[in-house]
Amino acid sequence: RRRGTADASYCFYAGEMANSSLRRFDLDAALRRALDRGEFLLHYQPQVDLASGEVIGAEALLRWNRPGVGLVSPLEFIPVLESNGLIGAVGEWVLDEACRSCRDWQEFGGAPLRVGVNLSARQFRDGDVGAVARHAIDRSGLDPRLLELELTESIVLQDADSVIRCLRELRSDGIGTALDDFGTGYSSLSYLQRLPVDRIKIDRSFVTDLTSNPNSSAIARAVVGMTHSLGMTAIAEGVETEGQLGYLRGLGCEAMQGYLFSPPLPGDAFVNLLRDGCRMASGDAATEGKRILL
Ligand code: C2E
Ligand code: MG
Ligand code: MG
Ligand code: MG
Repeated sequence: RRRGTADASYCFYAGEMANSSLRRFDLDAALRRALDRGEFLLHYQPQVDLASGEVIGAEALLRWNRPGVGLVSPLEFIPVLESNGLIGAVGEWVLDEACRSCRDWQEFGGAPLRVGVNLSARQFRDGDVGAVARHAIDRSGLDPRLLELELTESIVLQDADSVIRCLRELRSDGIGTALDDFGTGYSSLSYLQRLPVDRIKIDRSFVTDLTSNPNSSAIARAVVGMTHSLGMTAIAEGVETEGQLGYLRGLGCEAMQGYLFSPPLPGDAFVNLLRDGCRMASGDAATEGKRILL
């Protein structure tokens, strides 16, 4: 009887395993076709200057429109693209598409609008990220200063010297860089000081409980202070409430992105937002933190 139970549970477990490896196989095959079939697209999340309330650019976020399924989150398929090596080809497509869109946004006047593009560790390991970015810039005709590559602390830590060399080259080409999800990794302050990056993105986890957890607010304050001492600017991720917005303004954080202003939008919806001149209230009206029309 005991044996029977054990066998039954083993079968159940084996079934689960088979299911998950089948699922993975299926996902892998579908992703291999996705690029050729044009199933990838980018959404753009507006980034807002906290002093002026104006949209200063957007982060490009990859989506997969999987036939019969709908939009799939990058958290689900980017790890697969990294492990099967497809991230190189998809990453090139992302850079091309983001640079082309950003060039088109410039016609909406006002200050030049930037685009942020996320990079994976594997893209640094396998290829020449600088060459791929320059190629995308050349093809699109975008001003290199309007492209900002986002990398994480883990990318830097895996091979600090070669990443720093690559960042220096990007900088000499005028391409901007940002350190994403800052505070979630393990980079030491001495690394940070050696890193030629322009912006620090304060991770959403610190922003979320900014007004309720003294530890988070202390970290956010320290990160903004350190960012400024190193001559960089700060942008907060995942701002969802007016309380968080007010606190970040008080810290002197330069910019934000988050659901409070807008979720990531399809390309045409982002263009409509630019066309309508949407901005966030600033100064005394700031606490409202609403999207208002000029
Ligand atoms: P990330 O670069 O840190 O992007 C920010 C994520 O936070 C996005 O998730 C965005 O939709 C979400 N977010 C923005 N504002 C808020 C908010 O107010 N509240 C909450 N709860 N979430 C917010 P998304 O689009 O699912 O992307 C997840 C991650 O996938 C990204 O994190 C990035 O690491 C990765 N990723 C996305 N696109 C690409 C890409 O083209 N290449 C690579 N290598 N990675 C990408
Ligand atoms: Mg990012
Ligand atoms: Mg981030
Ligand atoms: Mg993140």
